[in-house]
Amino acid sequence: MSHHDVIVIGVGLAGLVAAVRLAEAGARVLVVAKGIGATHLSPCTIDVLGYAPERVDHPLERLPSFLQERPGHPYGAVGAEGIVDAVDWLKAHAPGYSGSLERNFLLPTALGVPRPTAVVPATMAHGDLRAADAVAVVGFSALKDFHPALLADGLRRLTPAVEARPIELDLVPAGRADVSSLGYARAFDDPDFRARVVTHLGLRLRARERVAFPAVLGVTAADAVWTELEGRLGHAVFEIPTLPPSVPGIRLHRVLSDALRRAGGTVRLNVVATGAEHAGSRVTALRVRSGLRVQRHGADWIVVASGGFASGGLELRPDGSARETALGLPVTGVPSHGAPRFAPEYFARHPVDQAGVAVDGGLRPLDGAGGRVYENVLVAGATLAGCEPWREKSGDGISLATGYAAAGEVLGR
Ligand SMILES: Cc1cc2nc3c(=O)[nH]c(=O)nc-3n(C[C@H](O)[C@H](O)[C@H](O)COP(=O)(O)OP(=O)(O)OC[C@H]3O[C@@H](n4cnc5c(N)ncnc54)[C@H](O)[C@@H]3O)c2cc1C
Repeated sequence: MSHHDVIVIGVGLAGLVAAVRLAEAGARVLVVAKGIGATHLSPCTIDVLGYAPERVDHPLERLPSFLQERPGHPYGAVGAEGIVDAVDWLKAHAPGYSGSLERNFLLPTALGVPRPTAVVPATMAHGDLRAADAVAVVGFSALKDFHPALLADGLRRLTPAVEARPIELDLVPAGRADVSSLGYARAFDDPDFRARVVTHLGLRLRARERVAFPAVLGVTAADAVWTELEGRLGHAVFEIPTLPPSVPGIRLHRVLSDALRRAGGTVRLNVVATGAEHAGSRVTALRVRSGLRVQRHGADWIVVASGGFASGGLELRPDGSARETALGLPVTGVPSHGAPRFAPEYFARHPVDQAGVAVDGGLRPLDGAGGRVYENVLVAGATLAGCEPWREKSGDGISLATGYAAAGEVLGR
């Protein structure tokens, strides 16, 4: 049986942040994950607090009363200072991320809806709708998941101060007929493709227009691609997240995975955590399954960053109960048997939304009576109970802050 200082379960934002921080501090870290997490699907802007329930413009100002109103929220275990530290850490590790908790950006979605978010890749920052007056929305006819006319229409209707118009380019990466965001992002890594874009677009832009692209401005060197386009077009340029796959998320995943590798950490994918062995209140080994092989890994600490219901860290059973899949930790907040779990309206508050693993102030899992389950297990990210990330616009903020704090808990001991 191999032995590690820390085993992190999950390779999403929470797991990667915890693993990188720990490995850089000298811990021997193994990350096991059954697959890639939400990074490859979500915009990977760090939404710390966007609604509470009114729109939040200044997260740092709103957080103290927000936490008072919501005891048991994961941010309570971290505190506003902890979130600020985590954001600073991310900005140091993912150069190009900008913004702070002082003031949210208001960035457009692919439907032109203004979306509050705190910390974003530099390639998106010029999309702040408070500063924009005229926007040319560029799309590509072969990119089916991003519609510039729909987006421009949404912008005009929802932010009347912005004059928006679509421009569709008929440029297809060589040899492809139907291309995803990732296909275009790979094309933007190629200087010849960028030159074609500049040639086709340059003369169609009007004075003062900001130029919105789908978030496909390169996979490997987006900041350089974006800077080059701004220079050659002579206009402010920004990216708007597309439907999945999410190129900005893939970039962030790469940056953090590379940092982990450099720090000596190991990631093993297609490995499912299925249970733990323990001695008293300490877990001594994690049981994992990879294909048909079952293995055990010893660890001093386990960080469960398994992504909640969306990534299989939590499962709802047909009888209405819920299960934490990696260690069988207690799940709280699940509606009682027979009670509705979901509301009919998509954007309504769903009874099951706050279900998850409850933790103490040190991110250790708690049982139904409020007692600690294990001394050396910490929980981070979307598996945590007590929050509504989709309504609050806090998903990546919670994963970043609790992943960072989980590493801090281990290092503090
Ligand atoms: C399409 C989409 C759009 C989103 N948009 C936004 C947004 O605009 N703003 C926002 O704030 N949030 C958004 N979110 C939510 C946000 O992305 C997530 O809350 C956050 O990224 C979760 O990160 P995580 O690290 O906690 O979990 P995840 O990224 O889900 O990672 C979980 C990891 O755990 C692994 N895992 C699970 N169970 C096991 C097991 N038993 N054994 C081994 N591995 C396991 C998974 O394979 C995965 O690697 C969006 C999510 C999606 C899917």
